[in-house]
Amino acid sequence: MRRDYDRVFSDAIGKLKAEGRYRVFADLERICGAFPRAVWHSPEGKRDVVVWCSNDYLGMGQHPAVLDAMKRTIEANGAGAGGTRNISGTNHQHVLLEAELADLYAKPRALIFTSGYNANEATLSTLGKLMPGVVILSDELNHASMIEGIRHSGADKRVFKHNDAADLEKHLAAIEPGRPKLIAFESVYSMDGDVAPIHRFCDLAEKYDAMTFLDEVHAVGLYGARGAGISERENAMHRLDVIQGTCAKGFGVVGGYIAASEALCDAIRSHAPGFIFSSSMPPVIAAGIRAAVAHLKASGAERAKLAERAARLKRCFAAAGLPAMPSPTHIVPLMVGDARDCKRASDELLTRHGVYVQPINYPTVPRGTERLRFTATPFHDDALMDAMVAAVDEVWTRLGLRREAKAAAAE
Ligand code: PLP
Repeated sequence: MRRDYDRVFSDAIGKLKAEGRYRVFADLERICGAFPRAVWHSPEGKRDVVVWCSNDYLGMGQHPAVLDAMKRTIEANGAGAGGTRNISGTNHQHVLLEAELADLYAKPRALIFTSGYNANEATLSTLGKLMPGVVILSDELNHASMIEGIRHSGADKRVFKHNDAADLEKHLAAIEPGRPKLIAFESVYSMDGDVAPIHRFCDLAEKYDAMTFLDEVHAVGLYGARGAGISERENAMHRLDVIQGTCAKGFGVVGGYIAASEALCDAIRSHAPGFIFSSSMPPVIAAGIRAAVAHLKASGAERAKLAERAARLKRCFAAAGLPAMPSPTHIVPLMVGDARDCKRASDELLTRHGVYVQPINYPTVPRGTERLRFTATPFHDDALMDAMVAAVDEVWTRLGLRREAKAAAAE
C-alpha cells in the first residue's frame, strides 16, 4: 500500500492551525485609479474594502506614467522576455532600467532580478562562494532572503544584535584580521519600522576592512532627494559596496536589483545560478519600473505626502489610546502580542468594517509580538483614516485587547 504522503503535509498544517498562525490569503481585486480601495472576494461574495497593509507605499502601481509606459511597451514588445538574460532574454528595456538604477545610486552598474528576494539570495550566496574564507556578519533581524542567501553561500556567518554597532564590532574584532568580511543589513526593518545606523556600520567596515551589503527594500522611492533610500538621505551611498532593492513596493511593480561596482555586478551576472538560469523579467515590467524610478527621481511630492500621512496616522492611534509601536518611518505597527487575538482582530476589521490589515505572526515576527502592521499611503485620506481608527478602536475594545495589552506590558 502506498505511504500516506499527504498526511505529513496535513499534520504540518494542523500544527499551524493549532497555534493560530495558519495563513489565509485575502482574495483581493485591486481597482486601478481607486487605490487603496479594493474588492474582496469573500466566501459570501464581493465586498468593497480599504487596504491598510499595502506595500505599494506610494501608489505607484496606478501612476499614469507607469501605466502609460507599460501600455506602450506591451504593444511594442509583447508579453514575455523570451529567455534568460544570456539566451535571447536581454531586452533593451532591461539595459535601460539597469542604467536608470545605476544612476539612482551613483554606482558604476546595476543588475536586475525578477524579485527582491532573488536579488538578495542570488547575490549573497554568490558573494560568499566567490570570496574564499569570507565571514558574513548578518543583523539578527535580516530578511529571510538574506538569511537563505548567506546559508546557501556556505560561508562562515556571525549574527550580530539588531542595529547594534557595539555587538557588530565585538564580532568583527574576533575574526582573524586576514579574512575577508561582509556586513549585511537592512536600512528600514519592515516589521518594526526602525532604521539601521548606516554610518556607524560603515565606520566599522572601514576600520575592519569589511565589505557592506545594504537591503533598502522598504526605503526605495520613499527616502532621499531622488528616492534611492535611507542611504541617500544620510549621504552614505558612496560608503556601501552593494545596495539592494525591490521594484515591488515604493516603485509599485515587481522585480529586484543590486547596484555596485562594475566588477561585482559582472561577477554576479556571470556566476549566480539564480540570475543565470532563470528567464528575465518581461520588458513591459522593466518599462513600468523605469517610469516609476524616473518619476520619483524628479518628484518629491509623493515622499512628502507619505511622511505626512504616516505622522497623522501615528497621532490618530495615540489619540485613541491604541498601542502603536514607536517607529521613525512610514511603517505603523499596532502591537497585539498573541497570534489568535491578532487573527481575530484582523478578521473582525475585515468582515465588520471593510478594513483589510493582515495579521503578522511568527516566523515573520517573534512569538508574543504578533501585530497588525498599517501603512498609510498618499491615497489614504483623512476620511478613510478616521473611519479605520474608529473601527480599530471598536474592535480593540470589544475583543478586550486593551486590557490584554496592559496585562502583557505589566508582566
Ligand atoms: N528584503 C526585505 C527586507 C523584504 O521585506 C522583502 C520582502 O518583501 C524582500 C527583501 C524581498 O523583496 P521582493 O518582495 O521584491 O521579493
